[in-house]
Amino acid sequence: MAFLSETLDRVKPSPTIAVTNKAAEMKAAGKDVIGLGAGEPDFDTPQHIKDAAVAAIAAGKTKYTGVDGIVELKEAICAKFKRDNDLEYTTAQVSVGTGGKQVLYNALMATINPGDDVIVPAPYWVSYPDMVLLAGGTPVPITCGIDTAFKMTPEALEAAITEKTKWLIFNSPSNPTGAGYSWDELKALTDVLMRHPHVWVMSDDMYEHLSYDDFVFCTPAQVEPGLKDRTLTTNGVSKAYAMTGWRIGYAAGPEHLIKAMRKVQSQSTSNPCSVSQYAAVEALNGSHDFIAENNAAFKRRRDLVVSMLNEIDGITCPVPNGAFYVYPSIAKLIGKTSKAGTVIDSDETFATALLEETGVAVVFGAAFGVSPHFRVSYATSDEALTEACTRIQNFCKDLS
Ligand code: GLU
Repeated sequence: MAFLSETLDRVKPSPTIAVTNKAAEMKAAGKDVIGLGAGEPDFDTPQHIKDAAVAAIAAGKTKYTGVDGIVELKEAICAKFKRDNDLEYTTAQVSVGTGGKQVLYNALMATINPGDDVIVPAPYWVSYPDMVLLAGGTPVPITCGIDTAFKMTPEALEAAITEKTKWLIFNSPSNPTGAGYSWDELKALTDVLMRHPHVWVMSDDMYEHLSYDDFVFCTPAQVEPGLKDRTLTTNGVSKAYAMTGWRIGYAAGPEHLIKAMRKVQSQSTSNPCSVSQYAAVEALNGSHDFIAENNAAFKRRRDLVVSMLNEIDGITCPVPNGAFYVYPSIAKLIGKTSKAGTVIDSDETFATALLEETGVAVVFGAAFGVSPHFRVSYATSDEALTEACTRIQNFCKDLS
């Protein structure tokens, strides 16, 4: 009898984490590596948030808390939803977990039965399909390519829904493309969902505050209040507040779903770190001035990366309006051979050859379900980005 579970055979380790770890290992071994793999801001957590954590430790807030969060944080989350998204929730409709990842995982574990389908627009964040598989469901990707700016059309959504569809996972601005849906684009999708009352919506709003140019963020339950009773709106402090390591994510939705998610969490991790929760209260309630400063830097870096990548013969890089990723196409480079003799037959080979031959770490597109592309995370210094893009330019120039 096999020792490891059969479910585990159906999933793979997170490729974003694998690339990040590989780049870190190469760096530790003394190699000259520039990591554009990790989806993690290079900014430090703002001082007032760190101070709140230190104060919480000093005050002895170091014990178990309620399984899915302290009341102060749930109240801060309710205030955030009201302030930013015009959504009213009570604290009983809020769940706090160890990162956005745990909250999404809890929701899937709490609701998926064998035979349930979950629609996942592709390119998708690497963990959505595998979490669905771990929960015993079937991910149903809808390919949204560069021709539709990586966005799902209402027709494609309508065509993908069947009686087996339990959830649609929606993510705007998107990891890995940075594409954000406008109010009208989202309304066209929620109109489809209103015709299918059995389909629930899991909205991953993690990149809400990271938007550029004139993009205005919106979320499904706000655009279509008629969907609120079957929408789980998820978010977290990791990206906007540069708090990836603190592991605080949260969600709001119907109380019966929140209760079921609490049951999953009560039998796995119990509460998210108490000190991190107090830091998150300060993040949500405190000054947000630093976000505009960070975003100015992100926008400058986006423009730098997009223009340097588009200078390359064979790479097409759309300009996204959110997150800190770009998702260029390398369709015209497939079939070429690198200077060291690697035949670029896929985006995975491209990313591996790029790392081995130039020391630039990116994540290959197949991990996100749409090829041939690669993801660049531009949440790193302008100098590192300029050097990395120069290396990518030279690598591509040498392809024959
Ligand atoms: N969400 C980030 C990324 O896509 C962090 C790593 C992960 O959890 O996938 O790189």
